[in-house]
Amino acid sequence: MDGRPAGTWSAPGVYPVAAGVHRIPLPLPNDGLRAVNVYVIEDGDELVLVDSGWALDESRQELEQGLQTLGYELGDIRRFLVTHVHRDHYTQAVVLRRLFGSRIALGLGEQPAIDLVLTRPGDVAPVRLAFLLSCGATALVETLRDAGFGESIDVDLWEKPDEWLTDVSDVGLATRRLAVVAAPGHTRGHVVFLDAEHRLLFAGDHVLPHITPSVGFEAQPADLPLGDYLSSLRLMLGYQDATLLPAHGPVAPSVHQRARELLVHHTARLDACLAAAHQGGHTAYEVAHRLPWTRRGRRFAELDPFNQMLAVGETAVHLDLLAAEGRATRSIVDGIVTYHL
Ligand SMILES: [Zn+2]
Repeated sequence: MDGRPAGTWSAPGVYPVAAGVHRIPLPLPNDGLRAVNVYVIEDGDELVLVDSGWALDESRQELEQGLQTLGYELGDIRRFLVTHVHRDHYTQAVVLRRLFGSRIALGLGEQPAIDLVLTRPGDVAPVRLAFLLSCGATALVETLRDAGFGESIDVDLWEKPDEWLTDVSDVGLATRRLAVVAAPGHTRGHVVFLDAEHRLLFAGDHVLPHITPSVGFEAQPADLPLGDYLSSLRLMLGYQDATLLPAHGPVAPSVHQRARELLVHHTARLDACLAAAHQGGHTAYEVAHRLPWTRRGRRFAELDPFNQMLAVGETAVHLDLLAAEGRATRSIVDGIVTYHL
């Protein structure tokens, strides 16, 4: 139907997760992530959804079909609890709210991102390109500009949520306790939802089972997104272990195990960035060229421009953390950030 291989986590359908909780993977356009999981929580005779999917016709149809299988319809969704502001999680909630009056909750830390897109939508892409220029990625910026990057921002898909979620508050469901835990890093305002009694963590993109989430890919990132992210991973280890309900990938048995793996991964990446800087890479762009990418160990040049953009950002957040920890020095020369050992 949409090119997604059958028999994998992303195959269309409704998958039971726990009593009253179901996973519905929804399609994404031309995206290496394949699909985004939304989780349907039956709360009395109303539905609460964790994440909403990308506002696309196919996505809405699959959600509608999935809900029908469960004996519900789109209008039964009372509330969307959205883990973060990225469009594959947030935008379908905005569109469905217009039709059905459901309410949307989003982490308070996403306010600057929402404000930027609502008040200065024309700045979103230029801010990103300016960041890449500061990383020394002049050639990549030219490629992205030639490809029309950021020319068509979908302003009509963005609105404020009804409710801003704050750290360690209770979501207030009728039938279960669900705690909001701020987990900044992937984005500034990323939150996860913890059902401690049933040992379920609705993790969004904070902890993903098969891939390492991008860190700080947003128009207005924090000062040290990777520092925030690593703290947020350690934070997960302070809670009792739970089943991992990720937004991309299959349900996995242990949040703790995956959080530890991600911590080890970033420790190795920090060391690899230092080694690359030692070999003469001084900007994030130069260091990114000296690192292997994806689980397959691809070369930077083999990535498409969008993934090169993510890779440069990823490298920059590692180098910035090394500088903050005193393992490298960071300076800005002619608008370009350079790192030295
Ligand atoms: Zn996502």
